[in-house]
Amino acid sequence: MLKNIRKGQLVVISGPSGVGKSTVIAEVRRERKTLTFSVSYTTRLPRQGEEDHVHYHFVDRAEFEQMIAEDKFLEYATYENNYYGTAKRDVEQLTEAGYDVLLDIDVQGGASVRSVRPDAVSIFVIPPSFGELSRRLYGRKSESTEVIQGRLRRAREEYKEIPNYDYLVVNDQVPKAAGEILAILKAQDCRVSARLDMIKEDISL
Ligand code: 5GP
Repeated sequence: MLKNIRKGQLVVISGPSGVGKSTVIAEVRRERKTLTFSVSYTTRLPRQGEEDHVHYHFVDRAEFEQMIAEDKFLEYATYENNYYGTAKRDVEQLTEAGYDVLLDIDVQGGASVRSVRPDAVSIFVIPPSFGELSRRLYGRKSESTEVIQGRLRRAREEYKEIPNYDYLVVNDQVPKAAGEILAILKAQDCRVSARLDMIKEDISL
Protein backbone atom coordinates (compact mmCIF):
# COMPACT_ATOMS: atom_id res chain seq x y z
CA MET A 1 0.00 0.00 0.00
CA LEU A 2 1.16 3.53 -0.74
CA LYS A 3 0.97 6.25 1.88
CA ASN A 4 -1.18 9.36 1.48
CA ILE A 5 -3.43 7.69 -1.02
CA ARG A 6 -4.63 9.47 -4.09
CA LYS A 7 -6.43 7.25 -6.52
CA GLY A 8 -4.05 6.01 -9.20
CA GLN A 9 -4.52 6.88 -12.84
CA LEU A 10 -5.34 4.55 -15.66
CA VAL A 11 -2.86 4.52 -18.54
CA VAL A 12 -3.67 2.80 -21.83
CA ILE A 13 -0.76 1.82 -24.06
CA SER A 14 -1.44 0.43 -27.51
CA GLY A 15 0.73 -0.25 -30.52
CA PRO A 16 1.28 -2.95 -33.10
CA SER A 17 2.46 -6.35 -31.99
CA GLY A 18 6.26 -6.40 -32.28
CA VAL A 19 6.74 -2.68 -31.65
CA GLY A 20 8.64 -3.44 -28.44
CA LYS A 21 6.04 -2.19 -25.97
CA SER A 22 7.01 -4.72 -23.29
CA THR A 23 10.64 -3.60 -23.30
CA VAL A 24 9.68 0.07 -23.16
CA ILE A 25 7.16 -0.59 -20.39
CA ALA A 26 9.76 -2.50 -18.35
CA GLU A 27 12.09 0.51 -18.62
CA VAL A 28 9.32 2.94 -17.63
CA ARG A 29 8.48 0.82 -14.60
CA ARG A 30 12.10 0.79 -13.43
CA GLU A 31 11.94 4.57 -13.18
CA ARG A 32 8.41 4.93 -11.88
CA LYS A 33 7.77 2.63 -8.98
CA THR A 34 4.13 3.61 -8.50
CA LEU A 35 3.30 2.35 -11.97
CA THR A 36 2.07 -1.18 -12.14
CA PHE A 37 0.51 -3.53 -14.56
CA SER A 38 -2.84 -5.15 -14.79
CA VAL A 39 -2.12 -8.69 -16.03
CA SER A 40 -4.57 -9.46 -18.85
CA TYR A 41 -6.46 -12.67 -19.48
CA THR A 42 -5.98 -14.37 -22.83
CA THR A 43 -6.92 -17.56 -24.62
CA ARG A 44 -3.78 -17.57 -26.76
CA LEU A 45 -1.05 -20.08 -25.93
CA PRO A 46 2.04 -18.92 -24.04
CA ARG A 47 5.06 -18.02 -26.17
CA GLN A 48 8.50 -19.29 -25.28
CA GLY A 49 9.54 -17.76 -21.96
CA GLU A 50 6.07 -16.50 -21.02
CA GLU A 51 4.79 -17.38 -17.58
CA ASP A 52 1.21 -17.86 -16.44
CA HIS A 53 0.00 -15.02 -14.15
CA VAL A 54 3.10 -12.96 -14.99
CA HIS A 55 2.75 -12.14 -18.68
CA TYR A 56 -0.91 -13.13 -18.91
CA HIS A 57 -3.43 -15.24 -17.09
CA PHE A 58 -3.67 -18.00 -19.70
CA VAL A 59 -7.20 -19.45 -19.75
CA ASP A 60 -9.27 -21.51 -22.16
CA ARG A 61 -12.22 -20.20 -24.18
CA ALA A 62 -14.80 -21.65 -21.81
CA GLU A 63 -13.28 -19.87 -18.81
CA PHE A 64 -12.98 -16.61 -20.73
CA GLU A 65 -16.59 -16.78 -21.93
CA GLN A 66 -17.73 -17.50 -18.39
CA MET A 67 -15.98 -14.32 -17.24
CA ILE A 68 -17.69 -12.34 -20.03
CA ALA A 69 -21.05 -13.72 -18.93
CA GLU A 70 -20.30 -12.67 -15.35
CA ASP A 71 -19.40 -9.12 -16.51
CA LYS A 72 -15.93 -9.41 -15.04
CA PHE A 73 -14.12 -7.45 -17.76
CA LEU A 74 -13.48 -3.71 -17.90
CA GLU A 75 -12.89 -4.41 -21.59
CA TYR A 76 -12.11 -7.36 -23.80
CA ALA A 77 -11.39 -7.88 -27.48
CA THR A 78 -10.71 -10.57 -30.05
CA TYR A 79 -7.32 -10.47 -31.68
CA GLU A 80 -6.19 -13.08 -34.26
CA ASN A 81 -8.93 -15.49 -33.10
CA ASN A 82 -8.03 -15.21 -29.44
CA TYR A 83 -9.70 -13.33 -26.62
CA TYR A 84 -7.79 -10.75 -24.58
CA GLY A 85 -9.31 -8.92 -21.62
CA THR A 86 -8.69 -6.76 -18.56
CA ALA A 87 -10.43 -7.74 -15.34
CA LYS A 88 -12.40 -4.92 -13.66
CA ARG A 89 -11.46 -6.09 -10.20
CA ASP A 90 -7.69 -6.00 -10.82
CA VAL A 91 -7.84 -2.42 -12.07
CA GLU A 92 -10.10 -1.21 -9.27
CA GLN A 93 -8.02 -2.76 -6.51
CA LEU A 94 -4.77 -1.33 -7.84
CA THR A 95 -6.02 2.21 -8.51
CA GLU A 96 -7.76 2.29 -5.12
CA ALA A 97 -4.42 1.37 -3.52
CA GLY A 98 -2.89 4.42 -5.23
CA TYR A 99 -1.05 2.70 -8.05
CA ASP A 100 -1.10 4.00 -11.60
CA VAL A 101 -2.26 1.10 -13.70
CA LEU A 102 -0.94 0.47 -17.14
CA LEU A 103 -3.04 -1.44 -19.64
CA ASP A 104 -1.17 -2.83 -22.63
CA ILE A 105 -4.19 -3.36 -24.86
CA ASP A 106 -5.18 -3.26 -28.52
CA VAL A 107 -7.14 -0.46 -30.21
CA GLN A 108 -10.56 -2.05 -29.61
CA GLY A 109 -9.73 -2.28 -25.91
CA GLY A 110 -8.41 1.29 -25.96
CA ALA A 111 -11.72 2.52 -27.41
CA SER A 112 -13.74 0.59 -24.80
CA VAL A 113 -11.65 1.94 -21.93
CA ARG A 114 -11.94 5.52 -23.22
CA SER A 115 -15.72 5.19 -23.33
CA VAL A 116 -16.10 3.85 -19.79
CA ARG A 117 -13.14 5.71 -18.24
CA PRO A 118 -12.73 9.08 -20.03
CA ASP A 119 -10.18 10.04 -17.36
CA ALA A 120 -7.72 7.41 -18.70
CA VAL A 121 -4.65 8.73 -20.55
CA SER A 122 -3.93 6.90 -23.79
CA ILE A 123 -0.59 6.48 -25.55
CA PHE A 124 0.04 4.84 -28.93
CA VAL A 125 3.54 3.45 -29.60
CA ILE A 126 4.75 3.03 -33.20
CA PRO A 127 7.97 1.67 -34.73
CA PRO A 128 10.16 4.02 -36.80
CA SER A 129 8.78 2.34 -39.97
CA PHE A 130 6.73 -0.61 -41.22
CA GLY A 131 9.91 -2.22 -42.61
CA GLU A 132 11.39 -2.15 -39.13
CA LEU A 133 8.21 -3.64 -37.63
CA SER A 134 8.34 -6.49 -40.13
CA ARG A 135 12.02 -7.14 -39.29
CA ARG A 136 11.23 -7.20 -35.56
CA LEU A 137 8.34 -9.63 -35.99
CA TYR A 138 10.34 -12.03 -38.14
CA GLY A 139 13.33 -11.69 -35.78
CA ARG A 140 11.21 -12.89 -32.88
CA LYS A 141 10.97 -16.33 -34.55
CA SER A 142 7.97 -17.31 -32.43
CA GLU A 143 5.21 -17.16 -35.05
CA SER A 144 4.53 -18.53 -38.53
CA THR A 145 4.75 -16.32 -41.62
CA GLU A 146 0.97 -16.44 -41.85
CA VAL A 147 0.53 -15.12 -38.30
CA ILE A 148 3.14 -12.42 -38.90
CA GLN A 149 1.44 -11.32 -42.14
CA GLY A 150 -1.83 -11.13 -40.22
CA ARG A 151 -0.19 -8.96 -37.55
CA LEU A 152 1.25 -6.59 -40.16
CA ARG A 153 -2.14 -6.24 -41.87
CA ARG A 154 -3.70 -5.62 -38.50
CA ALA A 155 -1.08 -2.98 -37.68
CA ARG A 156 -2.11 -1.01 -40.79
CA GLU A 157 -5.72 -1.09 -39.59
CA GLU A 158 -4.72 -0.07 -36.05
CA TYR A 159 -2.97 3.06 -37.32
CA LYS A 160 -6.37 4.45 -38.30
CA GLU A 161 -7.22 4.66 -34.58
CA ILE A 162 -4.18 6.78 -33.68
CA PRO A 163 -6.06 10.12 -33.90
CA ASN A 164 -8.26 8.96 -31.01
CA TYR A 165 -5.28 8.60 -28.68
CA ASP A 166 -3.85 11.39 -26.51
CA TYR A 167 -0.15 10.80 -27.24
CA LEU A 168 2.05 9.23 -29.93
CA VAL A 169 5.49 7.80 -29.08
CA VAL A 170 7.98 6.42 -31.63
CA ASN A 171 9.98 3.48 -30.32
CA ASP A 172 13.20 4.15 -32.18
CA GLN A 173 15.41 3.76 -29.13
CA VAL A 174 13.98 2.24 -25.97
CA PRO A 175 15.42 4.79 -23.47
CA LYS A 176 14.06 7.67 -25.57
CA ALA A 177 10.59 6.14 -25.88
CA ALA A 178 10.55 5.32 -22.16
CA GLY A 179 11.65 8.90 -21.38
CA GLU A 180 8.74 10.29 -23.40
CA ILE A 181 6.25 8.08 -21.60
CA LEU A 182 7.69 9.14 -18.23
CA ALA A 183 7.29 12.78 -19.29
CA ILE A 184 3.65 12.16 -20.23
CA LEU A 185 2.99 10.57 -16.84
CA LYS A 186 4.72 13.44 -15.05
CA ALA A 187 2.55 15.94 -16.95
CA GLN A 188 -0.53 13.98 -15.89
CA ASP A 189 0.62 14.26 -12.26
CA CYS A 190 0.80 18.03 -12.60
CA ARG A 191 -2.76 18.52 -13.90
CA VAL A 192 -4.77 20.87 -11.73
CA SER A 193 -7.46 18.22 -11.38
CA ALA A 194 -4.88 15.84 -9.87
CA ARG A 195 -3.55 18.49 -7.48
CA LEU A 196 -6.63 20.24 -6.16
CA ASP A 197 -5.92 18.75 -2.75
CA MET A 198 -2.75 20.83 -2.53
CA ILE A 199 -4.66 24.13 -2.59
CA LYS A 200 -7.89 23.06 -0.93
CA GLU A 201 -7.20 25.07 2.22
CA ASP A 202 -5.89 28.13 0.35
CA ILE A 203 -9.03 28.37 -1.74
CA SER A 204 -11.22 28.42 1.31
CA LEU A 205 -9.12 31.08 3.12
P1 5GP B 1 0.25 -10.53 -27.95
O1 5GP B 1 -0.43 -11.79 -28.40
O2 5GP B 1 1.31 -10.07 -28.94
O3 5GP B 1 0.77 -10.62 -26.54
O4 5GP B 1 -0.86 -9.38 -27.92
C1 5GP B 1 -1.64 -9.15 -29.03
C2 5GP B 1 -2.40 -7.86 -28.85
O5 5GP B 1 -3.34 -7.98 -27.79
C3 5GP B 1 -1.52 -6.66 -28.53
O6 5GP B 1 -1.92 -5.58 -29.35
C4 5GP B 1 -1.82 -6.39 -27.07
O7 5GP B 1 -1.68 -5.01 -26.76
C5 5GP B 1 -3.29 -6.81 -27.01
N1 5GP B 1 -3.73 -7.11 -25.65
C6 5GP B 1 -3.06 -7.68 -24.63
N2 5GP B 1 -3.82 -7.75 -23.53
C7 5GP B 1 -5.01 -7.19 -23.85
C8 5GP B 1 -6.23 -6.96 -23.11
O8 5GP B 1 -6.38 -7.26 -21.93
N3 5GP B 1 -7.24 -6.39 -23.81
C9 5GP B 1 -7.13 -6.00 -25.11
N4 5GP B 1 -8.17 -5.41 -25.68
N5 5GP B 1 -6.01 -6.20 -25.82
C10 5GP B 1 -4.96 -6.80 -25.20
